[in-house]
Amino acid sequence: MAELSPQNRIAIVVDRALCIGSGDCVDTAPDVFQLDEEDKAVVVDPDGAPLDDVLQAAANCPVTAIAVTGEDGDLYP
Ligand code: SF4
Repeated sequence: MAELSPQNRIAIVVDRALCIGSGDCVDTAPDVFQLDEEDKAVVVDPDGAPLDDVLQAAANCPVTAIAVTGEDGDLYP
């Protein structure tokens, strides 16, 4: 299992093959997600927003490229 973040106790994975660089995740949680030089989302800090906002950002992704895992398993999708 991936190491979980200290505060939210989550691991976030962005599927770069799926990400189309829409930036919705960045708009929702800019301290968690940023776009890199290839216009793909990267996680800058899994604890950069409350868990609800992280999950909302994942839900806002139009291609479901963001997976969030917590202590008890999948939180999204
Ligand atoms: S919302 Fe999804 S497709 Fe858009 S930048 Fe974030 S991960 Fe990529």
